[in-house]
Amino acid sequence: MILIVDDAPENIISLKKVLEVNGFEVDTASSGEEALKKILKKSYVLIILDVQMPEMDGFEVAEAISGYSKAKETAIIFLSAAIANVNLITRGYSSGGLDYISKPVDMNILLLKVKTFYRIYEQSRALNEMQTKLLEEIEFRKEAERKKDEFISIASHELKTPMTSIKGYIQLLERSLDKEDLETTRIRLHKVQNQVEKLNLLVADLLDISKIESGKLKFNKKYFNFDKILDHIVEIMQQANPKVKFIKKGGIDTEIFGDEMRIEQVIINFMTNAIKYAPDSDEVHLTAERRGDEIYFSVRDFGIGMAKEHQPQIFDKFYRVEETSERYQGLGIGLYICQEIIERHEGKIGVNSEPDEGSEFYFTIPLHPEMDAKP
Ligand code: ADP
Repeated sequence: MILIVDDAPENIISLKKVLEVNGFEVDTASSGEEALKKILKKSYVLIILDVQMPEMDGFEVAEAISGYSKAKETAIIFLSAAIANVNLITRGYSSGGLDYISKPVDMNILLLKVKTFYRIYEQSRALNEMQTKLLEEIEFRKEAERKKDEFISIASHELKTPMTSIKGYIQLLERSLDKEDLETTRIRLHKVQNQVEKLNLLVADLLDISKIESGKLKFNKKYFNFDKILDHIVEIMQQANPKVKFIKKGGIDTEIFGDEMRIEQVIINFMTNAIKYAPDSDEVHLTAERRGDEIYFSVRDFGIGMAKEHQPQIFDKFYRVEETSERYQGLGIGLYICQEIIERHEGKIGVNSEPDEGSEFYFTIPLHPEMDAKP
């Protein structure tokens, strides 16, 4: 917007008209004081300032506003008969731009100057915006870099733990073999297998993350029996965790459409977390049921639970509840992968949890997904 400051109403009217006809928004002030008040409240791109005004002249107004932060980018065009005076003030002035036009005003020259100032203003605004964006982007890189470093250090640690155990058990295995102690050999071999399985799962999760990032996580969907795979998973989990009681409720009783292996992965992830984050409890409840035209599956534990503020974030990549992250090993990527899998089945994933009372992780999947849904 342009502010015209002139004590002669007839000058204001004619200037305003010309500028408005040319598409500029115009505000007016009939004295230096009125102009200062307006400039304090509003930002102007340009002020057209009559030099000869009673009480406060145009130069005094310019001096006064040179200290206003709102007028930092504002340009001024003086209207003056005395060009020498304008040159004097131009030297000491540090605002966005200064110029003058001698009276009587040649409207064509005025318009040319106004347009030039506007162009400069637009360009410098665009430059400022670009600079801000660039700075934000640099910060965002930096942040991504920091997260990546942190992830690599946690991931290496997580990989190293089972590796070290494997190395240790293999040394022990050699000893029990030397002694021809078959029973101990079998126990140790079993332990090595467990650690290898842990490693395998970790590496598979890491691969999944990179597939999600590059949009290459593929699904092989067909109809399968949900109840059957659930029974199978419970059997395997029971073998690996003999002390835990898995209590199953409900059943789906019909085939569902999806990627069996990936759905299995989500169920195992929920169950593994239910055991990991509930070290003092030995019960895990599983519910599978049809709700309208979707299936609902949940895993409920009676473990550490979590505060409400964490619940929307635990499905984010690398997010771990900080208060407990030292006590429980993990990478914070399992639930992120689960979320991706369920969303790619047009389903929903969620959690209900209370600190110290336990958590219930659930997902829903439509029984009859759209036939033209993404593969
Ligand atoms: P990880 O267990 O490897 O950290 P996840 O993505 O599976 O990664 O889980 C993310 C975070 O959610 C965990 O770090 C933990 O803070 C929280 N969490 C997951 N499952 C449970 C649970 N059953 N009870 C309490 N907190 C959980």
